[in-house]
Amino acid sequence: MTKGKLYIIATPIGNLDDLSFRAVEVMKSVDLIACEDTRHSGILLKHYNIDKPRLSFHSHSGDAKVIKILAHLQGGDDVALISDAGTPGISDPGYTLISAALDLNYEVIPIPGPSAVITALCASGLPTDKFLYLGFLPVKKGRQTIFKKIADSEYTVVFYESPHRLKKTLVQIKEYLNPDSKVVIAKELTKIYEHFYRGNIDEIIKEIPEKPKGEYVIMISN
Ligand code: SAM
Repeated sequence: MTKGKLYIIATPIGNLDDLSFRAVEVMKSVDLIACEDTRHSGILLKHYNIDKPRLSFHSHSGDAKVIKILAHLQGGDDVALISDAGTPGISDPGYTLISAALDLNYEVIPIPGPSAVITALCASGLPTDKFLYLGFLPVKKGRQTIFKKIADSEYTVVFYESPHRLKKTLVQIKEYLNPDSKVVIAKELTKIYEHFYRGNIDEIIKEIPEKPKGEYVIMISN
């Protein structure tokens, strides 16, 4: 029996039109779609008339789910992995499944598309020939160490931050950063309230509301 293939498919980060033709084709062809949240992805799949069995696969799924998906591959099923938004595995679930599938010699095929980090960087106006992606910063321990790394970086630094921690993180980073470092914050990319804040750290702190809403990518160039 032919072994199934595992497709890693990038999905929109806000605007449903940002799904590639190839992503649609592949999702229509596979036997199973592993979703971070089956209900959330249901909206996207319905929009594209993709009617396939779905299985939840999220950060707390554990080994049992990995084994279940591997069993599908072993049985010859092609499986697509998608996350709630953007590229699976990029600050999203995927790593455990992908490494296990590769260990067992299954074919893993990426279907590229949106990711907030690249979308933010490409319009940032900051140097992008080299950059350092830090995902989400640690919430408790290790923050000072990472702030120092950001302040010392010779490359543009990019990371994700939740709205309720955004202001606090910027105020803390200010203590380490050169006051002239360029800061760009991308808000709600590809959505109605998409906005780029640009300036030095003081200007940005003044501009960001006390209780920001939405999704944010922070970029800093020293
Ligand atoms: N896998 C996703 C990707 O490829 O971009 C990232 C998922 S991560 C759990 C979610 C974080 O990505 C959000 O907290 C935010 O920092 C960032 N993000 C996702 N969508 C965004 C958007 N439309 N605008 C700005 N930031 C976004």
